[in-house]
Amino acid sequence: SSDELPLVRISEVTKRFGDFTALDGVSLDIRQGEVVAVIGASGSGKSTLCRTINRLETITSGSIIIDGTPLPEEGAELAQLRAEVGMVFQSFNLFPHRTVLDNITLAPINVRGIPKDKAVARAHELLERVGLADQAAKRPGQLSGGQAQRVAIARALAMDPKIMLFDEPTSALDPEMINEVLDVIGDLAATGMTMLVVTHEMGFARNVADRVVFMDAGQIVEEGDPATFFTSPRTERARDFLSKVL
Ligand code: ADP
Ligand code: MG
Repeated sequence: SSDELPLVRISEVTKRFGDFTALDGVSLDIRQGEVVAVIGASGSGKSTLCRTINRLETITSGSIIIDGTPLPEEGAELAQLRAEVGMVFQSFNLFPHRTVLDNITLAPINVRGIPKDKAVARAHELLERVGLADQAAKRPGQLSGGQAQRVAIARALAMDPKIMLFDEPTSALDPEMINEVLDVIGDLAATGMTMLVVTHEMGFARNVADRVVFMDAGQIVEEGDPATFFTSPRTERARDFLSKVL
């Protein structure tokens, strides 16, 4: 049964850009309800890993299975799968000329075919959940970076994803806004949402994630329980990385 399989199974995935190997035999299981933090130096392949999970990048070899279904190459199945994987990037990419409410309801209405009144009601619920109940009529340009990123999270959630992928969701934010976004992600974790979070916030990786994955040069070098990883990394590469970021 699907209870026995992880929600996401990444097996021996390699991704090459020309001669350059960005992912080098990466295998990772993500269980239902698990929060996995991915850490590692710039250029280690973290974004590429995120992008392969919903086929923003095709993989060179290996396989990725989401909820029992291998990632399709194209077509309607790919669109369906993308809808099941919520993605939040460093830059929020909101539609600048649409209201916050429209930003959240457009895809559910147009891609999912959800009736407008239902989509609007759900958007208000989600705005409440990310602490922006009073911002529905604003345009993205009127929001702070932290507010805009919380709208981006609400927008992803509006598609009822099976998993949320976050690629450095706080890296573009002013320091005082980082925690408001991390708190929303932490609240989501508490509701049992399955998440892969690429982050430079070591406190978040240590305190919120169930598991930490350390990448270097396109490989997963170490993974495990955060408390163990941060206090006693096993590899020289991880010790080296931690000495720079902690
Ligand atoms: P990270 O997110 O850990 O900083 P990335 O996954 O963005 O790392 O990139 C890993 C490596 O792959 C980097 O050296 C980057 O230059 C390279 N890379 C990423 N995307 C492309 C691309 N579209 N074409 C060529 N090289 C790329
Ligand atoms: Mg990156």
